[in-house]
Parts: sequence; structure tokens; C-alpha cells
Amino acid sequence: MSECIKAYDNVLQLIGSTPLVKLNRILEDIPGNFYAKLECFNPGHSTKDRIALYIIEEAERKGILKPGDTIIETTSGNTGFSLAMVSIIKGYECVLAVTSKSSKDKIDTLKNLGAKVYVCPANVSADDPRSYYQVAKRLHSEIKGSVYINQYFNQLNADAHYNTTGPEIWKQTSGKITHFVACSGTGGTISGTAKYLKEQNPGIKVLGVDAYGSVLKKYHETGEFDDKEIYPYRIEGLGKNLIPSATNFDIIDQFIKVSDEESAHTARELVLKEGLFLGYTSGAAIRGIQEFAKQNHFDANSNVVVILPDHGSRYLSKIFSDDWMEKQGFFDTKRNASNTTKIQFVK
Ligand code: PMP
Repeated sequence: MSECIKAYDNVLQLIGSTPLVKLNRILEDIPGNFYAKLECFNPGHSTKDRIALYIIEEAERKGILKPGDTIIETTSGNTGFSLAMVSIIKGYECVLAVTSKSSKDKIDTLKNLGAKVYVCPANVSADDPRSYYQVAKRLHSEIKGSVYINQYFNQLNADAHYNTTGPEIWKQTSGKITHFVACSGTGGTISGTAKYLKEQNPGIKVLGVDAYGSVLKKYHETGEFDDKEIYPYRIEGLGKNLIPSATNFDIIDQFIKVSDEESAHTARELVLKEGLFLGYTSGAAIRGIQEFAKQNHFDANSNVVVILPDHGSRYLSKIFSDDWMEKQGFFDTKRNASNTTKIQFVK
């Protein structure tokens, strides 16, 4: 009887093999074909499921992790969610060090996923023993059999994408991909995927999207870490104020920067034009394509694949909140809340 039941053994078997969907309207003014790799189809709703599973399984293969051991990381975002999810299924403790800037919603989410969350002061330097980096390091040295994921400085992060995202895209496009576009945070997604794709066809152009307020683009162009580039910005997961060793800068052909405001509006447009309710960096990635198009990167024969990293549900109180948009000063006479607000109260 049981042979007839078509079921996955557990939720982790749903990680990866995400769909590629043609974008039909949002980029219709730009020559070429544009395809979105929808990473929200992972069970943890983001691309970070891939690295969580891959890094943990590598540690198991090397005999570093045994059931009951501990996974440690510094994140309140997608990686924390994915690590906690994988830990549940595989029977690990998950310890996440976050800063007091993390929203209550995020901390509650991680807690509900069974993680132990250390909330560390945000306003201390990275080498202060109370900083979330130092707390994670200390816990790693104290807890025997623990693994510190350290995604910004872990080559396995890019390897996860080399082994999964890259081959999937090559297969899904039957090798016809001409351009690969991705946001860069740790750089794991763009570096690992691009390495695989360029091994298949060195002619594929790899285009990275960075944020205003981040050092990545300038470092790529000049080799200089310029702290004058650094200032606070809103988009989470894109860009960085340090140089992550998980990023292979040599494999990226060009970076472009996108703004908080344009990326937020583009994420909203993506919902209304394509029916894709996705996260802030998905808006940033599409905005990046629009900027690259101004530099004539694409023509009618281009087959462009863009990674859209996560789902919109994590941004309800941010880019999908009119109040938040208003507070950021993102509405003006051209683009105002009424474009998307269609609520009528029936009395
Ligand atoms: N988008 C989101 C929402 C993210 O959380 C991240 C990860 N920081 C990225 C994009 C960038 O991916 P990567 O870290 O692989 O460069």
C-alpha cells in the first residue's frame, strides 16, 4: 500500500529545484527575455535554505556534527529561519545571536522555530565582548560539537549555490542563458552560481546588484575598501559594510547600485504587474536590471536569469506598509499610497 503514497520524507527534501518564471510585463520596455528564479518556493521561503542544508550536511559528512550538537549563527534574517528549520528536522540545537535592532516579529519567529536567541546590544563595536559577533564566537568555543556557520566568511556558502542553483539554471535554460543577475550580500549566491555557469559557458555575463551605502561596488572596481561609501540604508540582505570572503569578486563582471526608494517601489510593482509578492531585494534585483539596461547590456537575443531571493510576507510592516513608506519619504505626487491602497470600509 505504502508504495502508492507519494510523499516527501520531510520538509528538507523540498529545498532547491525552484521554478523559473518568465517576467512578462515589468521589464517589457527592455529588449530580451527575462526569467525569475523564485527562491521563495523553498520551504523556508528563501534562498538561504540551500546554504543552511548544504553547510550542515557538509559538517555531518566531515563528522563534526552529531545529533544533539549545536548550530550557531549571527542573523535575525532568512539564514536564521533556514538554520532553525533544518535543525528541527535533523535534531540539532540552533543558537542565533541577533542585535537589539531586530524586530520583535523576527525574534518571535526564530523562537517559535525552536531556536535559542541571544539579543545583543546593537550600539557596541564588533570587538566588544557583548557584540553579536563576539557572543557567537564565544558560544562556539564553549559549546563542544558546535558549528559556527559564519556565512560571510564561509566558502561552503558559495559551494551550496555552485552545486545547486547553478546547475538548476543551466538545465532550466537548456544552456541558453546569456546574463545572470543577483543581489550580493554575503556574495554566496552570485559567486557560486556564476562559477558553475561560467564553467559551462565563459561568455555568460554576471551582473551584481549592490546598495547605496555599501562598499562592494567600489571594492570590485578599485580593490579599495572605502569606508566613505558606508552609510545606513534600508534594504536588508543586500550590500555590506565589510568585504565578505564568501564573495568571488573576480567572477562578477559588473556591479550596479540601487536605492532604497526605487527598490521598494519596484517590489510593489512586481506584485501588481507579475502577481509576484516578493521581498525587498527582489525589487532591488529588478531595479538593477533596469539600471543595467540603461548601459545597453541587453538586446533582443538576451536570455537573462535573475534571482529573486525571498517572499513578501516578511516585509508586511516595511515595503508593503503605506505607513512605513510614508515615514521613509518614499511617496510623492508621482507615486503615492493611493496607487496600491484600495481598502473601502463599508459602514
Ligand atoms: N536577499 C535577501 C533577502 C537576503 O537575505 C540575502 C542574504 N544576505 C541576499 C539577498 C543576498 O544573498 P547572498 O548573501 O547570497 O549574497
